[in-house]
Amino acid sequence: MNFERRLMLALVIGTLAIGGFARAGAQSELIPALIITGDTVSAHDWKKTSALISEILGKTGKIKVDITTTPGKDLTDENLAKYKLLILNYFNTAQGAPETRWSDANKEAFLKAVKNGAGLVVFHHASGAFARPNWEEFEKVVAGGWRTQGFHGPRHVFKVKKSDARHPISEGLPAEFEHAIDELYQNSMITPGSVVLATAYSDPAKPKGTGKDEPVVWVNSYGKGRVYEITLGHDAEAIADTNFQAWLTRGSLWAAGGLE
Ligand SMILES: [Zn+2]
Repeated sequence: MNFERRLMLALVIGTLAIGGFARAGAQSELIPALIITGDTVSAHDWKKTSALISEILGKTGKIKVDITTTPGKDLTDENLAKYKLLILNYFNTAQGAPETRWSDANKEAFLKAVKNGAGLVVFHHASGAFARPNWEEFEKVVAGGWRTQGFHGPRHVFKVKKSDARHPISEGLPAEFEHAIDELYQNSMITPGSVVLATAYSDPAKPKGTGKDEPVVWVNSYGKGRVYEITLGHDAEAIADTNFQAWLTRGSLWAAGGLE
């Protein structure tokens, strides 16, 4: 082989190698996220909604989503250390299989992960978990929400509005949108330090309507962890709303420290 051919071969191999490194680099930059779900909740199809959340976040090309339906096995220090983002689509009942329940060690591992900097997304009904009896530290880490005082009327279409708070999540999102049919959570607990980013007006003419702007999205922090709560997203129909998806995606990226 003459010099020119050897040089050409070296260049081709070099280019392939650099390409390979670049691809590997891009993959390793994906934000590892874990959807925590499971248990048996008759009101919520957590298998379907978890698959949809995974698909929506995966489509960003920035987040790689795993799902655990057995938090009793997977909420350990060692496993949670792999993730930059935890997404709670979970509500504890006494109906699920034993491995869906959180032991004291699981609870400690979860708190520790967020305290040490994992982002947390609290999705829809998850803010009502561990409220009876109340697990106080959970209430703090998820920034309140449904707990025991929340309620909603029949599902309906309602308008979601950005609040006046300036925040990277809502930056660039529309000032308001007509949300697909969904549950409007009312009387949510807003813990100290929480910043409400979006509200929806609860029409008093509707059953259980409060006549108030109800918070539907807010942020907080717990230790080094960023916390994002969104009360929207009851089912596939609500989740199909692309405006909802934009809020979910941007909130998830922010919580994981990946929002430019
Ligand atoms: Zn619901």
